Amino acid sequence: MADVRTGIGIDFHRLVEGRPLILAGETIPHGKGLLGHSDADVLTHAVCDALLGAAGLDDIGVHYPDTDPTYRGVSSLKLLADVRVRLEAAGYRTGNVDVTVIAERPKLAPHVPAMRQRLADVLGVAVSQINLKATTSEGMGALGRGEGIAAWAVALIERAARCPDT
Ligand code: MG
Repeated sequence: MADVRTGIGIDFHRLVEGRPLILAGETIPHGKGLLGHSDADVLTHAVCDALLGAAGLDDIGVHYPDTDPTYRGVSSLKLLADVRVRLEAAGYRTGNVDVTVIAERPKLAPHVPAMRQRLADVLGVAVSQINLKATTSEGMGALGRGEGIAAWAVALIERAARCPDT
């Protein structure tokens, strides 16, 4: 059997006034944005955690703590790029990633192609290896009241081909 591993990533951020809404590096027009130490890109954070989890490399909070001023306002795509470096250093590459964003508003479908492309570019994979979906929570609970956005991601990684021993 091929050396493949899976991981899951889940994240939540509050929606507040006065912040841009950034998901997978795309700035999405909306009256509010996500609150966080970085750009609060909840989707990308879930992807980072899924990949780190698959590789057995802890989680985003361990590597990029919100107490570290280095990461204040940082683009989460930069964190994802660093996750890729860590993954490759551990001998793995991304197989595929699947994400579901839970947001009452705004409608994300028009932005999905651009978001997939951005994540694929950062991870160095084909767009077909990245899938993004969005759903609402049908008005139930805090997410249903539009108080925040959540994202769930799963990732499969595979052992990169090794050079034959000499
Ligand atoms: Mg987060």
